[in-house]
Amino acid sequence: MRIAAGFALVLLFSSQGAGEEVKAGRAAVKITPPAGIPMAGYYSTRLAEGVHDDLWAKALVLESGTVRVALVACDLVNIPSGISAAARKQAEAATGIPAANIILSATHSHTGPLLGGRAVDYIKGPARKTLDAYRLALPGKIAEAIHTAAAGTVPARLSVGTGHEESVSFYRRFLMKDGTVRTNPGKRNPQVVQPMGQIDPDVQVVWVESASGKPMLAYLNHALHLDTVGGLRISADFPYTIAKLLGKIHGQELLTLFTNGAAGNINHIDVTSAEPQKGLGEAKKIGTVLAGEVLKTLARMKPVPDGALLATSETVELAIPAYKAGEVDKARLVASRFDRPDSPGTVALAEAFRILDTTERKEKPLEAEVQVVALGKTLAWVGLPGEIFVELGQAVKKASPFATTVIVELSAGHIGYVPSKKAFEEGGYEVVSARMSPGGGERLAETAIRLLNELHQLQNK
Ligand SMILES: [Zn+2]
Repeated sequence: MRIAAGFALVLLFSSQGAGEEVKAGRAAVKITPPAGIPMAGYYSTRLAEGVHDDLWAKALVLESGTVRVALVACDLVNIPSGISAAARKQAEAATGIPAANIILSATHSHTGPLLGGRAVDYIKGPARKTLDAYRLALPGKIAEAIHTAAAGTVPARLSVGTGHEESVSFYRRFLMKDGTVRTNPGKRNPQVVQPMGQIDPDVQVVWVESASGKPMLAYLNHALHLDTVGGLRISADFPYTIAKLLGKIHGQELLTLFTNGAAGNINHIDVTSAEPQKGLGEAKKIGTVLAGEVLKTLARMKPVPDGALLATSETVELAIPAYKAGEVDKARLVASRFDRPDSPGTVALAEAFRILDTTERKEKPLEAEVQVVALGKTLAWVGLPGEIFVELGQAVKKASPFATTVIVELSAGHIGYVPSKKAFEEGGYEVVSARMSPGGGERLAETAIRLLNELHQLQNK
């Protein structure tokens, strides 16, 4: 299913010649929830007790000729499809930027509010009221960030660089001695044989400054699960530290916008060390290392050559599995023990939630929107829904005709984990939780590669 993509391409190309001036605007709107809100990320209810650092919706709007796009990141675990659609619709109404041209993504912070999914059904009373009010107001705040950015565009210069950092990210799926594959098997687990793959060390940096050289925005991307803080205080996790450090060096006018790469199977846990790795200190450490790599990269940036600004989007239907009545009954029983003292634990609940959610769809496929934005012949962004396995993200980067291709996971709604076909065969937590049938991830990657090629060909005309 293709949503107005052909039309958009023709329109964009005909109205936009190469070499036209690029304008940029940026804005941030606070989306910190109040204390008492249920927090996201785990298979148990926990209510926020306060705030360590604020959560933000951050927007970059790029404009060239009559074409405008928005690249937006929110300090949230994910953005459920309903909230994403509402935010983009409101932004389109306020600015005229088509919803298809807005890549709206979540950073995957696990110390923000719970926003959707089955776990919401278990929240009652005042916590539910707090949550519902927050969810209702959120699209307007995201749209406000886009609107403010769009209203303040000025002639801008963009440059790009890619750093390399492999000390903070770890492949989290391991082959065990019994032949199974386990996710996060625990520190110093003697049963671990080896990791099943490799991380993506890229630290991508797109630097935006005004025509007079004033720093405006640092757009950053690295593939790493944002689950390092934990606890009951709201936090944006390690991007908070990156933004703070870059602000100290380049001035408070600089907005730092972090998006997550294909990090479905990548986190910060080093199983070879016995050191505990959770808390604000860990987030600060990771943020400092990544900020350091960003600063090094900033010393060797290359200007983005002139070219057209193009955007396209395509919605792909992904098949879902079917379950037998017995499996559904068992899942119901397991799910009924959520939050109880005899909770069956993360993996069993993930499996039960998957079976119940999937069954309730009555064979209706998942709708997954793939978005691509390109600036000239060298720089492109790919927005993909869900938590993308690193192998899929790297396949897109490798096949892309653009020198720099930024993969932005958890864009355009949430469809759960997006494992590779190989991972589906291996099993493990992400596969137990994934909503799609095997092969869905490869379809998303193939779609992204095709759209990248289409936009690149248009740049040659
Ligand atoms: Zn995750």
